[in-house]
Amino acid sequence: MTELHKTDLVIIGAGPTGLFSIFEAGMLKIKCHVIDSLEVIGGQCQALYPEKPIYDIPAHPSILASELIEKLEEQARPFAPTYHLNQRVEAFEKNPDGSFIVTTSKNVKIHCKAVIIAAGCGAFGPNRPPMARLEEFEVKSVFYAVKSKAEFSNKKVVIAGGGDSAVDWAISLSAIAKKVYVVHRRDKFRCAPESADQMKKLTNDGKIEMVIPYQLDGLKGLDGKLEAVLVKDFDGNIRELEADYLLPFFGLAMELGPIASWGLNLHKNHIEVDPSTMRTSVEGIYAVGDIITYKNKLKLILNGFAEAATACHDIRKIVHPDEVFHFEYSTSKGVS
Ligand SMILES: Cc1cc2nc3c(=O)[nH]c(=O)nc-3n(C[C@H](O)[C@H](O)[C@H](O)COP(=O)(O)OP(=O)(O)OC[C@H]3O[C@@H](n4cnc5c(N)ncnc54)[C@H](O)[C@@H]3O)c2cc1C
Repeated sequence: MTELHKTDLVIIGAGPTGLFSIFEAGMLKIKCHVIDSLEVIGGQCQALYPEKPIYDIPAHPSILASELIEKLEEQARPFAPTYHLNQRVEAFEKNPDGSFIVTTSKNVKIHCKAVIIAAGCGAFGPNRPPMARLEEFEVKSVFYAVKSKAEFSNKKVVIAGGGDSAVDWAISLSAIAKKVYVVHRRDKFRCAPESADQMKKLTNDGKIEMVIPYQLDGLKGLDGKLEAVLVKDFDGNIRELEADYLLPFFGLAMELGPIASWGLNLHKNHIEVDPSTMRTSVEGIYAVGDIITYKNKLKLILNGFAEAATACHDIRKIVHPDEVFHFEYSTSKGVS
């Protein structure tokens, strides 16, 4: 079934740059819908390094990546954006009047006057473990990202993987979960040494149980409600871990996807823009953040924020062509 919407601006990507674009658009009376292929907002910050401190966000000497995303969401909230998560943007059509129809993988169609592509390194999708019955449990008991920590409070959680995400979430959830298992093929983890030390300490204190060297083998439960995760060692011995949730963290596959065939000028898989406006080669389509290229472009969050402001000021001319614009600081204008 097709779901239809109408708005001023569609933002593709809910990473830090896409989220700040909502705020900048809102300040200029531009309404927007935001689409992301992940189940959660936050782009790389939330998906790849939620528990790491970032040190180069202006006025925040140190801020956790997940905290930055919470703050950006809070800052965007007064402008009531509509989020369409867990779906990839597949196509756009340009209407004769210059407006667009953007279509997602869930057949959501959004009519809009302009588009901002804030797609980072492309659409993220989790690497899914090859296990029977996986789909039955996905989105109910098996998650590839953490939307809300509170959901795991007093629950039995199996975390699988050996990278930053697995280790960071094991540490973080061990403070609230009833039981945290970490399943990994070997006893070496690809993470910051401080995180490895912290996880070791939590293991010694009995807050985390390491299940090593094991691999995921199967799921037990009914109607998507997990009862246990089966794991297998290299000799084929099976262990059954009683669990409410499984969080497999085997990295994310990234691909530019359909955007690559939209007829935009690309350079080495990045979208070429005019840095004075953030316009792409297609009128009405703008791009900001890690996905773009221009001379001396820096792939930093703070640059993405400034690019969002530049793009929205240019988009205002499309959305409100007849309104005379008086530039105002947020201090005098307020958030409205
Ligand atoms: C480990 C690590 C540490 C870092 N540390 C820092 C740091 O200290 N300081 C700093 O400034 N930067 C840092 N960065 C870089 C920073 O995270 C990126 O510059 C920033 O995330 C880019 O933001 P973005 O919004 O452009 O893209 P992203 O964060 O990549 O978000 C893009 C979003 O778009 C979505 N998307 C893409 N294509 C589609 C599609 N077709 N349909 C739907 N959704 C789509 C993706 O799923 C993703 O959620 C770090 C990066 C990493 C990996």
